Amino acid sequence: MVAAVFYGPGDIRIETVPTPQAGPGDMLVRVKAAAVCGTDLRIFSSGFSRPDIDGSGKGRILGHELAGDVEEVGSKVTAFGPGDRVTVAPNIGCGTCAQCVRGFGHLCPDYKAIGVSLDGGFAEYVLFPAEAVAHGNVCRIPESVSYEEAAVNEALACCYNGMQACGTQPGDTVVIIGAGPIGALHLLLSKLAGAETVIVGDVIEDRLKSMKALGADVVVDSARDDLVEAVSEKTCGRGADVVIVACSSGDAQQQALELAAIGGRVNFFGGLPRGKDNVVLNTNLIHYKQLLVTGTTRSSIYQFRKTLDILASGRLDIKPVITARVTLNEIKRVFDSARELKHLKTVVLP
Ligand SMILES: [Zn+2]
Ligand SMILES: [Zn+2]
Repeated sequence: MVAAVFYGPGDIRIETVPTPQAGPGDMLVRVKAAAVCGTDLRIFSSGFSRPDIDGSGKGRILGHELAGDVEEVGSKVTAFGPGDRVTVAPNIGCGTCAQCVRGFGHLCPDYKAIGVSLDGGFAEYVLFPAEAVAHGNVCRIPESVSYEEAAVNEALACCYNGMQACGTQPGDTVVIIGAGPIGALHLLLSKLAGAETVIVGDVIEDRLKSMKALGADVVVDSARDDLVEAVSEKTCGRGADVVIVACSSGDAQQQALELAAIGGRVNFFGGLPRGKDNVVLNTNLIHYKQLLVTGTTRSSIYQFRKTLDILASGRLDIKPVITARVTLNEIKRVFDSARELKHLKTVVLP
């Protein structure tokens, strides 16, 4: 099969590799869509964050947001069969540790991830290992949901996790720092949860324009205007009920505490690059404003299924967030030009 193989930072090659073979509990899936995630771009530029577990990446196929058709199932797989439309929550817990038994397999210290520590979706075929099938990671795609949307559902589920940590409610004012694909998905989810006003801040004008088109009430070009002032003005000095930091910036994390109203909830959604992760925070803002400051990463299988249901209901349209489609052969160009930040979500159609 043809696959985009990652060999180390900056080095991705289109190669012909052996098609994986499904063992008794495994499933072989023909990839129909695989979305490019910030995580993929980060691995491409600086390698794996857990090289001890994930390896140097030599020969790894990336891509953890994916959907496709079952090609073949192992002899022990009874719940799925050839032709089924499927997607997968990519983080596979061990199944027995304290986090796994709570249903938080995505927080399992020994988790494996399709597209990170296991081969992923930037290929013609991907193997769903027996644990993924047995633990419920594999999900049928509802009829009304396209392969592209099912692939992007992984990112949506992670945003849903962040939103749940903040308990966004009808009437809330939500500030999202970062107008990339994650900011866009947070915007759509916040609106669905009933947020009265969603304010998005970023420094890239084009991206702010797309946020406006997606339904942001206010966009703030923070290269020109002070975000804290703009939010204060919009909320009559109260600040925001919810602040989502949808970018990898320590400055934005600091600012989030200033932006939050008394009793506000903050989510540090984006991780920071290694070496830039010691950030000075004014903890008196947390103390005297009685803030709830949360961090979330990945999503549970339950959340993954919830957002798939939301997509199936037709109440949330993520299609406008998918702004580029490429073939496997073009994937290198996507990675090389990622810094131009031209697109929201790019989907690979092998
Ligand atoms: Zn992702
Ligand atoms: Zn576990």
